[in-house]
Amino acid sequence: MDMNSPKTCNVCGWINQDLNLSVREWTCKNGHKLDRDLNAAKVILKEGLKIISGGTLDNTDGDGVRSSNTQLSAKSEAHLSLANG
Ligand SMILES: [Zn+2]
Repeated sequence: MDMNSPKTCNVCGWINQDLNLSVREWTCKNGHKLDRDLNAAKVILKEGLKIISGGTLDNTDGDGVRSSNTQLSAKSEAHLSLANG
């Protein structure tokens, strides 16, 4: 997992490169007050949600393409039978 998680502000994404990991609470340059452990947990949670939602979106897109292809082929079959009839 991301080694920068404890140093990344979960609110704005700013990375505190100078953060000493013995510090329990810190404030990011945009003024967000952060508990080191809680903040790291939130950063990891956000990353996880991003991955999950990205995967779900991909699957939904795939299904959409598949079902519209089915409709298209059904339509072209109807056209063919009209042409033959
Ligand atoms: Zn921040």
